[in-house]
Amino acid sequence: MTSLNLTGTIAERLETLRATLPPRVKLIAVTKQVSVAAMREAYQAGVRDFGESRIQEATQKQAELQDLPDINWHLIGHLQSNKAKSALLLFQWIHSVDSLKLAQRLDSLAGELSCQPQVCLQVKIASDPNKFGFSVTELMESLPALNGCQHLQIRGLMSIPPLGLSEAETLKFFERTAELASKIEQQSWSHIHLQHLSMGMSEDYGLAIQAGSTFIRLGRALFGERT
Ligand SMILES: *Cc1c(COP(=O)(O)O)cnc(C)c1O
Repeated sequence: MTSLNLTGTIAERLETLRATLPPRVKLIAVTKQVSVAAMREAYQAGVRDFGESRIQEATQKQAELQDLPDINWHLIGHLQSNKAKSALLLFQWIHSVDSLKLAQRLDSLAGELSCQPQVCLQVKIASDPNKFGFSVTELMESLPALNGCQHLQIRGLMSIPPLGLSEAETLKFFERTAELASKIEQQSWSHIHLQHLSMGMSEDYGLAIQAGSTFIRLGRALFGERT
C-alpha cells in the first residue's frame, strides 16, 4: 500500500498529488475531524470538493465557511433516514446511498425540495459485516426501483475495500466494482448512468485509479492523521 508522505504544507502535498492524477480523476478532500483553518488552506490551494461523513459536523463547518460559496459538498458517510432531508440541504453529492429504502426516501424528499442530488450507490463487492452497502445481488434486484427514482441523478458506484486485503486483492476488488458498473451500464437504464466510480482513499488510491476510479476520497494523505 502507498505509505503516507506527510512532508510539506497542505498546498505542497496537493501540488505533488495533482501532478500524478489522470485528468478524469477528481480529488475529494475528506475533512472529517479536520479544522476549518486547514480546510481554508486547501481551498486557497484550489480544492473545491470537500467530503464529510456526518451531518452535524458538516452543518457547523458550512456555517463557518459561508464566505466560500463555490464548494461542492460530498457526503461520504452512512446516512440515517431521519437525516436525509438535512443531507439534501447540505450536500450536492451523496456517495453513500447504501440501500433501496434510503434511495427512495431521498427521492421523495428531493421531489418535495425540488432538487436533483447527484448520488453514488454504495456497493459491498466482498461481504463485509462492518460495511454498509448494497450486496451485488441486492443492487441488481433493486435496479428497476432505482431507475424509478426520478429526482435522483444516479451517477456512479462507491466501494470501500475491507481491511486486511493485499495489494493484488485490493486491485481486484476495485476492478470488480468497475466491472459491475459497466455491466449495469450495458443494461441501458433510462435513469441510471454510472460513469463515476468513487473509490480510493489515502492508502489505496493508486490501485483505485489503476482500476478506473473517477473520484478519490483523500483525508490523511492531505491533512495528516486524524486525532
Ligand atoms: C474517512 C474516509 C475517507 C478518507 O480516508 P483517508 O484514509 O483519511 O484517506 C474516505 N472515504 C470514506 C468513506 C471515509 O469515511
